[in-house]
Amino acid sequence: MARVGTVYLVGAGPGDPDLLTLRAARLLGAAGLVVHDGLVDPAVLELVRPDAELISVAKSRARHTLPQGEINSLLVREALAGRDVVRLKGGDPFVFGRGGEEAEACRAAGVPVEVVPGVTSALGAAAAAQIPLTHRDAASIVSFVAGQCKGLAEQDWAGLAGKGRTLVIYMGVKTAPQIAEKLMADGLAPEVPMAVVENAARANMRVLRGPLAALPELVARERVKSPALIVIGEVTARGDAEVTRFALEAQA
Ligand code: SAH
Repeated sequence: MARVGTVYLVGAGPGDPDLLTLRAARLLGAAGLVVHDGLVDPAVLELVRPDAELISVAKSRARHTLPQGEINSLLVREALAGRDVVRLKGGDPFVFGRGGEEAEACRAAGVPVEVVPGVTSALGAAAAAQIPLTHRDAASIVSFVAGQCKGLAEQDWAGLAGKGRTLVIYMGVKTAPQIAEKLMADGLAPEVPMAVVENAARANMRVLRGPLAALPELVARERVKSPALIVIGEVTARGDAEVTRFALEAQA
């Protein structure tokens, strides 16, 4: 029987290579083939063995270099040819990372899969901006939602934001105006504190704060670009204001 390789779905964290798990760092140092997407920080790719084959399947909102089905086929094909494959993804593979689809495709083809968790960007951003996602005096529920998926308007976010809750929105830069509108239509007060964390855990991080109603204007005026997260809730007012000021000065 021919050897079948293993597909490792590995979380690369939000940027800083120091936030990788030891398992991820070891796999990157040993892998012969690494398939990564565009969100993976170049500093993380430096840990890959110099003679390894690197394949980028970079995805951005407007540009799909490789459709998901072709990425699945690539992983399966290489593993069936006997190669171990490290599939490296920004953040955590199972948080808005399509890791589930890739794992399913591998299992269906009889390819063994191992998943290595990563620091999802919500946690990386919270740490870097010193925003506690939960706090005994401010929030005991935290939710992660996607701000860009199909049918945003039909998605039921009711109750996910508000008193005692923290809402973290991934992929929400382009739809920031609709997001603010949707939350306020659900009854959220316009003055609820909010933070936008752009390039969390990277050298060019920016943390911008304001009331919910100002979200669209803030994103437009500051030209916020992906990757960025929107965090809604009282905890964002507890973040380290020094971090914000520092980040803004560094940018200027
Ligand atoms: N699997 C990833 C999420 C991929 S979806 C994870 O666990 O983090 C892509 C979205 O993740 C981006 O639109 C952005 O909202 C968020 N994101 C990823 N890296 C980020 C970073 N360094 N700073 C801020 N947001 C980030």
